[in-house]
Amino acid sequence: MEFLPLFHKLRDSQVLVVGGGEIALRKSRLLAEAGAVLRVVAPSIDPQLADLVRGSGGQMLDRGYLSSDLDGCVLVIAATDDEPLNAQVSADARARCVPVNVVDAPALCTVIFPAIVDRSPLVVAVSSGGDAPVLARLIRAKLETWIPSTYGELAGLAARFRQKVKALYPDVTQRRAFWEEVFQGPIADRQLAGQGAEAERMLQAKVDGAPPHAPGEVYLVGAGPGDPDLLTFRALRLMQQADVVLYDRLVAPAILDLCRRDAERVYVGKRRAEHALPQDQINQQLVALAKQGKRVLRLKGGDPFIFGRGGEEIEELAAHGIPFQVVPGITAASGCAAYAGIPLTHRDYAQSVRFVTGHLKNNTSDLPWHDLVSPGQTLVFYMGLIGLPIICEQLIRHGRGADTPAALIQQGTTVNQRVFTGTLADLPRMVAEHEVHAPTLVIVGEVVVLREKLAWFDGAQYR
Ligand code: SAH
Repeated sequence: MEFLPLFHKLRDSQVLVVGGGEIALRKSRLLAEAGAVLRVVAPSIDPQLADLVRGSGGQMLDRGYLSSDLDGCVLVIAATDDEPLNAQVSADARARCVPVNVVDAPALCTVIFPAIVDRSPLVVAVSSGGDAPVLARLIRAKLETWIPSTYGELAGLAARFRQKVKALYPDVTQRRAFWEEVFQGPIADRQLAGQGAEAERMLQAKVDGAPPHAPGEVYLVGAGPGDPDLLTFRALRLMQQADVVLYDRLVAPAILDLCRRDAERVYVGKRRAEHALPQDQINQQLVALAKQGKRVLRLKGGDPFIFGRGGEEIEELAAHGIPFQVVPGITAASGCAAYAGIPLTHRDYAQSVRFVTGHLKNNTSDLPWHDLVSPGQTLVFYMGLIGLPIICEQLIRHGRGADTPAALIQQGTTVNQRVFTGTLADLPRMVAEHEVHAPTLVIVGEVVVLREKLAWFDGAQYR
């Protein structure tokens, strides 16, 4: 190991920065975040850097560097483009046993800056020892996606209970087991889901020796329209910690593959008319599994609150007092529109957009047709294939032009995406001609013409 990682307490300590430009500014920001008092020496000092120095209660020395500038400093950063000067600063610092960092010159450094993931008080530092900083930064980017942004609050919660727990469990092995349970169980779940007060209450109860009550929980998660890359960080995290997964037909296999390997998988999908499990049975199953103490992932295509019956499912959970959290997903309209190159709104064509269910009860035309034909409005029909002839006919009858541009997007965002464009009058014929199948989204409105210029994704190219 070329460098030993240590974390340096700088609060209220003097740090010398030699150089007054952009790089000096970047390093100084980090130092200021750690509470250092900055002493900057340079013939000219960037105004933002000057602000930072003032804010830190430090001093600016508008002149060349003198070795006496090191007096009283616990750390020095050389950030100039003058190589002999950088070498001089390094030599002076080492002579005085003051740690020194010279930007972009590992050989002149006794300390180096790592790539940092800051979830204070939790901080992750990654270093390549100066050999491959870009690699360290890429690893950092991966960690950024993997460590929830609220992790710091979890550490904060632990800090508030640290002494109590220490007193309760003098034995370090017991204490470790206690904290492992906290960080991997429902208390951490609550904190990371943004329910800090509840997490605090549960941790207090645990400290008070209350028997753990059934810790089951349901995650209602939107899996997006198909492309696994469109999952949210939180969705992925919960997918990897759930004990059992209840999923829909719309959830792509590639997405299901990302769930924890040993999680039990239960298919509850619905196809039109042919329900694998009636909705109330799904609701009851969610309740039953959570009551067994399981972490239950209810994975739904798109967004759970858009034509997803997510509301009904969590109403049942709420009625039984079962904790749950809802993770939004990219809804089919957003996903398909983006991947088809059809902006749903556009200053010249559409000032509003409307998501409409095309699932017509008993095949009767029970939609508010008069509202749907007003100009400057994009219509997006979900579940619109079966009712399409009626939808098109009614829109035209109520005044939307038969030549209004329209698009069909089948399996949008996936490698199997197919897009067909035409007019409102053409749509039903296009469905038959191209053998269009569910899931397909229908977009009606002038914005559809933009696809000619803006199409960028060709599903087939990956086949
Ligand atoms: N909750 C989902 C919608 C469920 S309703 C969401 O927010 O996207 C099911 C309908 O969504 C399908 O009939 C189809 O119209 C549409 N849909 C979902 N995924 C789709 C996809 N990848 N491509 C095209 N349409 C899709």
